[in-house]
Amino acid sequence: MLPKNFDRETFIAQLRQEHSRILPPHVEFAVEDGWLQLIADRLRDAETILEKHGWINRAGIRQIKEKFGELRIYIRPRTEDESYPDELAAEMEGLRRVVADNSAYTCEICGDLGEIGNFGGYYQCLCPRHADQRRAWIARGREGDIFHD
Ligand SMILES: [Zn+2]
Repeated sequence: MLPKNFDRETFIAQLRQEHSRILPPHVEFAVEDGWLQLIADRLRDAETILEKHGWINRAGIRQIKEKFGELRIYIRPRTEDESYPDELAAEMEGLRRVVADNSAYTCEICGDLGEIGNFGGYYQCLCPRHADQRRAWIARGREGDIFHD
């Protein structure tokens, strides 16, 4: 559950500052607030892995987004024609799986326990409360705020 006084902009600004080595300023956080802590944890893991392999200055985040209801954080070598050495590639793949697995049971809106549902053709991981709100929003013709308290 997000703290009552949670401030998205402040949280993201702090992440940008802490992880400026791997997070270019133009990369957007194209997900809802409930996943921001997952992103924070995974950026830290990514830095640890890249640092260990001497790649901290050679790789960067390309995209942070939702796909098929899961969180995706794309981290690639900075130079297009470079690729990760095998051991690093395996660790990055492990991290990719952790990100996807964790997000698949974390409500994208509030961070509570959730599950991926199909909401009128759009997949999203939501807790029961936010799933109800999204279904109600679809039922009333997708008008007004989807999520409200
Ligand atoms: Zn929720």
